[in-house]
Amino acid sequence: MRAPELIGRKRDGGELTADELAWLVNGYLDGSVSEGQTAAWLMAGVIRGFSEAEARALTGVLVASGETLDLQRLSGPTVDKHSTGGVGDGTTLLVAPLLAAVGVRVVKLSGRGLGHTGGTLDKLEAIPGMRTDLEPDELLRIADEVGCVVAAQTGRLVPADKALYALRDVTGTVASTALIASSVMSKKIAAGAQTIVLDVKAGDGAFMPDRAAAEALARLCVSIGSDAGRPTVALVTAMDQPLGRGIGNALEVAEAVDLLRDAPAGRLAEVALALAEAALHRTDAVVGSVGGDARERLVTAWTDGSALETLGRMIAAQGGDAAVCESPERVLPRADVVKDVVALHGGVVAGLPARAVGDLAASLGAGRSRPGEDVDPAVGIHVAIEVGDEVEPGATVATVHARSDDDAQAAANRFRELIRWSDEPVSRPDVILERLQ
Ligand code: URA
Repeated sequence: MRAPELIGRKRDGGELTADELAWLVNGYLDGSVSEGQTAAWLMAGVIRGFSEAEARALTGVLVASGETLDLQRLSGPTVDKHSTGGVGDGTTLLVAPLLAAVGVRVVKLSGRGLGHTGGTLDKLEAIPGMRTDLEPDELLRIADEVGCVVAAQTGRLVPADKALYALRDVTGTVASTALIASSVMSKKIAAGAQTIVLDVKAGDGAFMPDRAAAEALARLCVSIGSDAGRPTVALVTAMDQPLGRGIGNALEVAEAVDLLRDAPAGRLAEVALALAEAALHRTDAVVGSVGGDARERLVTAWTDGSALETLGRMIAAQGGDAAVCESPERVLPRADVVKDVVALHGGVVAGLPARAVGDLAASLGAGRSRPGEDVDPAVGIHVAIEVGDEVEPGATVATVHARSDDDAQAAANRFRELIRWSDEPVSRPDVILERLQ
């Protein structure tokens, strides 16, 4: 095969076979296909479009580039969960223990936050002692003993995705539904779970701002998963405003614990329950072993405290201080300055742009602008309002957790600027937009 011929075919709108894709990607990894040639192929595909068959084949090539986790030896059905990322999106901290509490095994490999979006590893590492770098044997042991484990993606799984993603990131070739779907699904397939549940976000704080694009991505991911023998279900959920109230690592852990102490309430709980329910339905269909009404079992596990207890056991198994599940305020790091932000005038909240709120939390130190930077676990914003709320003048609309008075004051001013007000009633927007399987 010759790289110029394959690139030229893609440039002219043609399709590459699975063998040709494998040759290109593996050639990039071993140096026989140059970075320039790989970037040219990616850009040709981004402009001309990749076919669904190419997305499927590319997923297989990426999976085959590294090791895969073998979850067969776990007792019980296995589920993996992935979110395309958003602001105040602490769903993993709820979904993993919730599913584990009803008998499913969740082995979740996660990433770190970047830009306005948070990352589950950063959140977990806000808990003193928590380890997220786990070897496969330890992962499986914790999954078996506790039911769930959340750890860092190892470099040994899908190394080709890591290499290609780094190149896409600097060549303007991330924005392709097929490339994103194959990247996401290769990681999920290599991580070994029988069933996959995806949370594809749509809205200004999401990777895919446009709902139709988010649905197309969700549909392609579901099709790739099912084709690979991994039944996949995807929810498309709203990311126009922050999902949870906490935006910042310790704040999001505290929120998850607080939510699990009570009956499920609010938009974050709604999405977490819907994801767990979708996963359970899919799992029931696959292994037929869990039985009963999925929603009822999940709400019971939430309300009777078993999900919180499971979260505590997972934290302890990963070296963290499980007392966080009893008194998060005592265990989690606290920012030096905690300042309430009050509304200067009243009205109805018509908008609170997720991306800008995420950027604001990141600017306080909760996020990073480049991979590898440190984050401050203690800082962030606790948001007290959501779209549709009626707010009286002087009411608290947020609490800023900052390193200094200056940071807190600047963030408070900026937060006030971000709220869009209406004089008319505003209906609460749906958070679950679509369910695909
Ligand atoms: N997230 C991924 O894992 N891969 C992409 O290509 C884009 C977002």
